[in-house]
Amino acid sequence: MAAGSAIQIPTRLPLLLTHESVLLPGSTMRTSVDSPRNMQLVRSRLLKGTSLRSTIIGVIPNTSDPTSDCDDLPNLHRIGTAALAVQVVGSNWPKPHYTLLVTGLCRFQILQLLKEKPYPIAEVQQLDRLEQFTNGHKSEEELGELSEQFYKYAVQLVEMLDMSVPAVAKLRRLLDNLPREALPDILTSIIRTTNQEKLQILDAVRLEERFKMTIPLLVRQIEGLKLLQKTRKSKQDDDKRVVALRPNRRINHGSITEDEEEEEDHDDVVMLEKKIRTSSMSEQALKVCLKEIKRLKKMPQSMPEYALTRNYLELMVELPWNKSTKDRLEIRAARIVLDNDHYAMEKLKKRVLEYLAVRQLKNNLKGPILCFVGPPGVGKTSVGRSIAKTLGREFHRIALGGVCDQSDIRGHRRTYVGSMPGRIINGLKTVGVNNPVFLLDEVDKLAKSLQGDPAAALLEVLDPEQNHSFTDHYLNVAFDLSQVLFIATANTTATIPPALLDRMEVIQVPGYTQEEKIEIAHRHLIPKQLELHGLTPQQIQIPQVTTLGIITRYTREAGVRALDRKLGAICRAVAVKVAEGQHKEAKPDRAEVGEGEDCKEHVTEDAKPESISDTADLTLPPEMPILIDFHALKDILGPPMYDMEVSERLSQPGVAIGLAWTPLGGEIMFVEASRMDGEGQLTLTGQLGDVMKESAHLAISWLRSNAKRYQLTNASGSFDLLDNTDIHLHFPAGAVTKDGPSAGVTIVTCLASLFSGRLVCSDVAMTGEITLRGLVLPVGGIKDKVLAAHRAGLKRIIIPQRNEKDLEEIAAPVRRELTFVLAARLDQVLNAAFDGGFAATARQEHLNSKL
Ligand code: ADP
Repeated sequence: MAAGSAIQIPTRLPLLLTHESVLLPGSTMRTSVDSPRNMQLVRSRLLKGTSLRSTIIGVIPNTSDPTSDCDDLPNLHRIGTAALAVQVVGSNWPKPHYTLLVTGLCRFQILQLLKEKPYPIAEVQQLDRLEQFTNGHKSEEELGELSEQFYKYAVQLVEMLDMSVPAVAKLRRLLDNLPREALPDILTSIIRTTNQEKLQILDAVRLEERFKMTIPLLVRQIEGLKLLQKTRKSKQDDDKRVVALRPNRRINHGSITEDEEEEEDHDDVVMLEKKIRTSSMSEQALKVCLKEIKRLKKMPQSMPEYALTRNYLELMVELPWNKSTKDRLEIRAARIVLDNDHYAMEKLKKRVLEYLAVRQLKNNLKGPILCFVGPPGVGKTSVGRSIAKTLGREFHRIALGGVCDQSDIRGHRRTYVGSMPGRIINGLKTVGVNNPVFLLDEVDKLAKSLQGDPAAALLEVLDPEQNHSFTDHYLNVAFDLSQVLFIATANTTATIPPALLDRMEVIQVPGYTQEEKIEIAHRHLIPKQLELHGLTPQQIQIPQVTTLGIITRYTREAGVRALDRKLGAICRAVAVKVAEGQHKEAKPDRAEVGEGEDCKEHVTEDAKPESISDTADLTLPPEMPILIDFHALKDILGPPMYDMEVSERLSQPGVAIGLAWTPLGGEIMFVEASRMDGEGQLTLTGQLGDVMKESAHLAISWLRSNAKRYQLTNASGSFDLLDNTDIHLHFPAGAVTKDGPSAGVTIVTCLASLFSGRLVCSDVAMTGEITLRGLVLPVGGIKDKVLAAHRAGLKRIIIPQRNEKDLEEIAAPVRRELTFVLAARLDQVLNAAFDGGFAATARQEHLNSKL
């Protein structure tokens, strides 16, 4: 574009409403964006737009009261400044906001508001000529004397400043190089003026008017500066920056409102300093804070660092350096609280009480960190909460699942945009005391990434030798964590980094038996759900058989979380009925007048209380208490989810039930096999790990070597099982990766069933590792596996003989209902798995002897 040719701004501009200051053409301003309207503008226009045009926005000074800024668009000032968004900086602390750097281009006038939401867009008319100044000299529009007079004052003002400062020297050069018409705007934004004065200059559309209005401002500034220089004499250091153009506040009589604002901020900083001095922070922290506040006082507020430093200092003041709750620990009371809050889990409660007792005697916390390991929903978090309750401490849960950045624990250094403290320090700020109970939830789900290893950061937090001087990167000073009581939870110890595991004392929390679940439901879950839904025991009755029905037919879990949810669903359905009933009862007259007593009685007699979803009897309030039985269950929860599955699936040869252990508790696992014509290949499906694949190969090898002994043949009657035959083994639930050696016996049984054509007993489940020679080796997780088999209604369980000792851990009622077969060799497994045994045939031996 040739020099001097006018530039046109777009005729439609998105509008940014600013409270803090007024942007004038030719000047640059940093503004904080946190109102939803402005945030939206930044997000959808500035951050998404790709063209230069999309970075041009209209900046309108918002003259309405900022505190009353609400959803509705306030009355807009008609004149604004079109601006180029030069930089957008995002931050999340203390709440999400952006800092925007904008440079004013020219004035515009709003002709018509086109759109209000999500951010205003207006049709505008450009008011100033916008030119490309390449060698721009004086404006063509000669204002003669007025412009000359203005220029003189401007030069006088600038020359009063320290010319050795590069910025001042540059300003002096600019005075000569910029077109005169641009000067009033630029100088007004540099010198000390109030927002009101800036607004007047913005509104002065005519250049002449602008010159006239700015001259008194320049004169005032010059006078102020003269006075200042007189009083300060030689003291010049503060004048070394352009921002230091500000004269002594008292002289500036005209700018009362802004002065007040400034003073308020100044007061805030003074208050902050006072708070810092009176707070009980450590000496080291105090030193850092005082240094920071000194810096803060010197910093212009528009600097992004100002907000950062201030937030930092506010956090430092808020942190509970020396504030703690008083421990009230009485072991007897603790036992009562734990017993009242939780049914069963005796081993865990016993260990927790021991831990607390030792603490009481020793009066310090140095010792292992408790780590509760068990499937979800078995009450790990809830026990942590009870511990806090017994100690009278604050409780805070820190979820670590999926955390892969060590800054999550240790905080970001303050040099980063959006830096913030880690979860530990944040947690302390939230609870407001330095001795809370912190529950580190799901330590087994910490991940590693390029951003460092959060487990390593946790080590420092948990190590009693180190954590009295834990240094969060954000704070950059040590904070004493030694009073915090840490408790960790995990689903499995397998994925906890060994160094971390080493610092913890693992307490296994196994799943519950059906009987325990029923008790937990009736003692804890149902009363809790009733309260949650505003129901009373007089309104709903859930018999134990129903609870058992929910447990066996609608849930299959080690803990009680799904059971809790199902009970919640029942309470919701009943709440609707009760509310409807109350509504009807509120108008009893009409019901009686309508049909009369007889009819009502009749219907009540007939009405099945369980069919609460039946709409036919809506006209009558439901009979209280509403009884939840199997019909009602079906109405509310739908058809049972786990019915008959086991026996149905075992109705063909080639299927056996194994027992698997997962972090979510034990599970039963069907193993299916089929054979077809082929070339002796083995296909395995169902997301298997390497160990499992090896087990499958072992099983086939053992069966092939024992085919004659057991009369196992392929389809064509040959003892070479893989001759012209392919085998396909499938482990359903293909979405879950399965691995581990414990499926060995199940695979052998399943294949033995396939090749013999016999059915495996439908009530048998098994687990055990195999060797090539047919031995059965012990496996882990027996307790969870047995509970899973019990849940699924199986009656006989084949386990390795060397696992016999693990049976002691199983609750007596469960043990009584099951028969355990202890197997040391595979032939014992097969004998137990098939009705009538699976003996090696006599004929086979006979043949052998003949040969
Ligand atoms: P986890 O942390 O092990 O995943 P939660 O502590 O969140 O499990 O427990 C889930 C729900 O089950 C909670 O409402 C808890 O109160 C309840 N709960 C679990 N076990 C018991 C128990 N033994 N006695 C009473 N309520 C229990």
